[in-house]
Amino acid sequence: MREPVLRPRACCYGSAMTKRQPLATADLMAAVPRTVTLLGATGSIGSSTIDLLRRDPVRYRVEAVTARRNGTALAKLARELNAQFAAIADPDAYAELKSGLAGTRIEAAAGPAALVEAAQRPAEWVMAAITGAASLQPTLAAAERGATVALANKECLVCAGALFMRRAAAAGAAVLPVDSEHNAIFQALSAGRREDVKRIILTASGGPFRTWSLEAIRNVTLEQALKHPTWTMGPKVTIDSATLMNKGLELIEAHHLFGLKPDELDVVVHAQSVVHGLVEFRDGSVIAQLGSPDMRIPIAHCMAHPARMTTPAQRLDLARIGTLSFEEPDPVRFPALGLARRALATGGAAPTVLNAANEIAVAEFVGRRLGFAGIAALVEATLDAAERKGVTGEPQSVEEAIAIDHMARRLAADLLPEIAAMAS
Ligand code: NDP
Repeated sequence: MREPVLRPRACCYGSAMTKRQPLATADLMAAVPRTVTLLGATGSIGSSTIDLLRRDPVRYRVEAVTARRNGTALAKLARELNAQFAAIADPDAYAELKSGLAGTRIEAAAGPAALVEAAQRPAEWVMAAITGAASLQPTLAAAERGATVALANKECLVCAGALFMRRAAAAGAAVLPVDSEHNAIFQALSAGRREDVKRIILTASGGPFRTWSLEAIRNVTLEQALKHPTWTMGPKVTIDSATLMNKGLELIEAHHLFGLKPDELDVVVHAQSVVHGLVEFRDGSVIAQLGSPDMRIPIAHCMAHPARMTTPAQRLDLARIGTLSFEEPDPVRFPALGLARRALATGGAAPTVLNAANEIAVAEFVGRRLGFAGIAALVEATLDAAERKGVTGEPQSVEEAIAIDHMARRLAADLLPEIAAMAS
C-alpha cells in the first residue's frame, strides 16, 4: 500500500494508516473477519452499508447497531445481522426495541449514553451515519478508542472539527471519508504529494432547483425539496442539498479532513453527479474520481480499504451519459453556500452556530413552519445574533461544543417567528 500523502496537523490519514501493516492482497483481507458497528443503522447510509454486509456475511461480524426511535426496524436488523448490542436514542422506543429482541441474546439499551456505549464496544470498523450534531459524542467515542471510523456524518466535523480531528489523531484512529465528494478527494490525493496540492474541488449536483428562478425557489414545497435529482438520501441531507447548505457543510468538512485552507477549497456545480471530486496539483494536473451516484461505492471503498471489493453499483457508461456539464454555483439563488463560507472564514464558534441553526431551520421547514427561503435567512440571523452576543471562541471540549450548539438552537428558536413571517 502506498502511504496516504496528506499529513496536516490534526488529520488522521497519515498517522493512523501508517501504523497498520498493509494487507498484501485482497485475498488475505477476505480471510480476516472484521467486526463492525453501525451508528444510524436504520437510515439511508445504514441501509446501503447493510446491503454490502449482506453480500459477504462470512467476512463481517456485527457488534452493535443504533437508531433514534425506530425500535422495531432496529430490532429486525439486529436479529438479521446477529448483532451483540442494539441501542436506541429515544428512551420511549426502548419497549418496542426490547420486545422486538425477545427470545434473542442481543442486549438492548436506550438513551444518549447507550449510543456512546455502542460506539465504545470493540468493533474494528464503525460506520458513523447518525444525522446531525447528535452524532458527535458516539462518533468521537469510536475514534477515541482508535477504531477505523467510516465518516458519513459531516455535522460532527462542522460542529467540532478541530477537536474531533485532534482527538482522533491522538488515539491513532483512521478516519475514512464516506461522503462521496470527500471519498473522491481522498482517492485523488494519492496521486501526488501534499505540498504539491493547489486546491481541491467538490462537485455539487445543484439539487432540484438548480435551474429555477429566485422567485420560484421562494415558493418551493417540502415535497419538491425532497425530490433529489440524482441521489437517494435521508430527509435532512436531501433538504441541505436543495439549499446547497450541504455543499457548505462539506467545505467545512473538507477543511478539517484534509487540513486545507478556505482558499484551497472550491465548489463546482455538476448536474450529472458522475465526477465526485477533483484535486488540482501545482503542475496543472487535475485528478478526479468518477462513478455512478451510488453511495455503496464510497462505502465499499471505506469497508475494504486499502483493498477494493466488488459492489452491485451500476458501472459507469460515459458514452451513454454523453455530456458532463459544469457551472459556477449561484450565490444569489443559493445563499446558504455563502453563509457556510462566511462561517469557515470566521472560524471559532461560527461553524458550530451555523450547523445548529441549520438543523433547526431544516426541522422547521420539514414541519412546514418555515418557508424554503427562510432556511438560509434563519441561519444568517442566528450567525449575526451569536456574533453580537460575543459567542466567537472555538470549542475546546465536547461540553463547550454542545453548549454553543444549544445556545445557537435557542437563538434560532427565538428568531424563528420573525424570520418565518418575513419568508412566507
Ligand atoms: P437518515 O435520516 O436516512 O438516517 C439517519 C440515521 O440516524 C437513522 O438510523 C436514524 O434513526 C438515526 N438518527 C437520526 N437522528 C438521530 C439522533 N438524534 N440520535 C440518534 N440517532 C439518530 O440519514 P442518512 O443516512 O441520509 O444520513 C446520515 C448522515 O450521513 C448524515 O449526516 C448525512 O449528511 C450523511 N450523508 C448521507 C448521504 C446519503 O447518501 N444518505 C451521503 C453523504 C453523507 P431512525 O431511523 O430511528 O430515525
